[in-house]
Amino acid sequence: MAKKVAVIGAGVSGLISLKCCVDEGLEPTCFERTEDIGGLWRFKDNVEDGRASIYKSVITNTSKEMSCFSDFPMPEDFPNFLPNSKLLEYFRIFAKKFDLLKYIQFQTIVLTVKKCPDFSSSGRWEVVTQSNGKEQSAVFDAVMVCSGHHILPHIPLKSFPGIERFKGQYFHSRQYKHPVGFEGKRILVIGIGNSAADIASELSKNAAQVFISTRSGSWVMSRISEDGYPWDMVFHTRFKSMLRNILPRTVLKWMMEQQLNRWFNHANYSLEPKNKYLMKEPILNDDLPSRILYGAIKVKPRVTELTETSAIFEDGTVEGDIDVIVFATGYTFSFPFLEEPVFQLEQNMVSLYKYMFPPRLEKSTLACLGLIQPLGSIFPTVELQARWATRVFKGLCSLPSEQTMMEDIIKRKEKRIELFGESHSQVLQTNYVDYLDELALEIGAKPDLISLLFREPKLAVKLFFGPCNSYQYRLAGSGQWEGARHAILSQEQRILKPLKTRSVKAAPTFPPSFLLKILGLLAVFVAFFFHLHWF
Ligand code: FAD
Ligand code: NAP
Repeated sequence: MAKKVAVIGAGVSGLISLKCCVDEGLEPTCFERTEDIGGLWRFKDNVEDGRASIYKSVITNTSKEMSCFSDFPMPEDFPNFLPNSKLLEYFRIFAKKFDLLKYIQFQTIVLTVKKCPDFSSSGRWEVVTQSNGKEQSAVFDAVMVCSGHHILPHIPLKSFPGIERFKGQYFHSRQYKHPVGFEGKRILVIGIGNSAADIASELSKNAAQVFISTRSGSWVMSRISEDGYPWDMVFHTRFKSMLRNILPRTVLKWMMEQQLNRWFNHANYSLEPKNKYLMKEPILNDDLPSRILYGAIKVKPRVTELTETSAIFEDGTVEGDIDVIVFATGYTFSFPFLEEPVFQLEQNMVSLYKYMFPPRLEKSTLACLGLIQPLGSIFPTVELQARWATRVFKGLCSLPSEQTMMEDIIKRKEKRIELFGESHSQVLQTNYVDYLDELALEIGAKPDLISLLFREPKLAVKLFFGPCNSYQYRLAGSGQWEGARHAILSQEQRILKPLKTRSVKAAPTFPPSFLLKILGLLAVFVAFFFHLHWF
């Protein structure tokens, strides 16, 4: 009989978990507290309890070719970076194509998830849900926790003495929806993550003045990279990932700094990170530097005190007449439906094996999905997590001993701190290609480049030097997809399709201006030669 799996949440993690359950012949039931799919990506004008809340202008910071599921490329005409409504549209066509909606019970909240009395032998869970005020209980063979981690605001008011005196308006970035109502105001945005940068840039178009206060600064990158390609297609290649792993740290640090300062000098814009050699998640924002250049945004250091109307900063400067403070200070998370001993949560940190499995369970029948912040897109990452989890539930893959898992958790934490630092915002941070490969290895889906080089050198070269997209993990092993090869070879077409909206004559490969320069140089040489001979 097929194993029954409870999936908690119908955001991107829940949807892909459902698909992977079906692919593996499991019997899933998804419980979603709201009336629709999409989780974070379903914009609403109002903030809802228990669900992530975004502003209307959110655009993905990972590109469509790097964010799609591995056997379902995004439509050709979709833009390369997607407004939230467009991404939601993709999830809707995905859910329809794989007929996933029939597994979802909407407006059903999961209240508790408890081990059954015979858990040590059966590994089963009792899941209590509530719908229309009625509680129900059901037993499942496994549980996939897909409830998201951008729901609970982290708003560290204790770090802001005087906030209780402040007479203006203040709120967390989760409450921000659009710039209407903030025109002509003096606004202070606290923090410098992607939320802070987006909100400050948007507000600064009509505010009297916007200030961003940051205690540690940040690197800022453009979504547009070499030759106009999306940044993640250029950054996340196997070749570059290998270089990042093998180059001496000092060389790597120097190269990273040069690269990141090429667009603009971060020190001149008061943005340079305090510890500039950490791989902390960068801001992806094309507007921020220009808004700073126009003076519409001023970057300030840490706030030391607030008064009724002013902010006092670490460097002794004071900005008065502040009307609004936006705390773009990130998120914290919790799993109120889980019994405490399932896994520990300490200072926003979880002890999970490879960010997924509680190491101390007698049976590996519970996994957390999407509880991670990769340096690239979360969508292919969570897909590989779901492919692995479902195979663990089926008994096709097994986990190591508790001791080995604990050792791995400790080692991984040390490595994370070394690479990304100790900031609250970096506790779920991971490398991208390395983590994808690690998950793929578990299910035998990591591409074998050496053998591919002999069989199909063109494809092998694409895999190594080209973008590390999700299709690569469908070329071989369990879950092989016959369209994967074509998807890899045709991705250029899907990138360019939404851009090439006007026919333009291809530029000559040897432009006349270049020819003129060569001729000019030749003329100088000839003149010089005759000059020597004549005199
Ligand atoms: P969510 O989207 O939060 O979905 C969780 C679902 O679980 C919700 O539908 C919720 O209603 C439901 N739920 C919660 N608790 C219960 C319960 N007890 N019972 C039943 N249902 C429950 N990542 C990228 O890769 N690229 C990006 O461009 C990107 N942009 C982002 C922009 C913003 C503003 C933020 C905050 C994050 C962004 N991220 C991005 C990361 C983001 O976490 C993922 O994109 C993704 O949305 C996470 O999906 P999820 O399904 O894990 O969680
Ligand atoms: P975040 O990345 O966690 O950033 C929080 C910021 O608040 C950091 O700059 C942090 O500074 C600062 N902060 C925290 N505590 C503070 C304190 N006590 N005093 C002063 N500053 C403090 O949060 P986020 O910007 O909301 O982003 C959350 C996730 O959503 C990220 O993964 C992000 O990429 C994603 N996101 C994506 C988009 C997009 O796609 N367009 C938009 C928004 C968000 P320190 O670094 O010094 O700790």
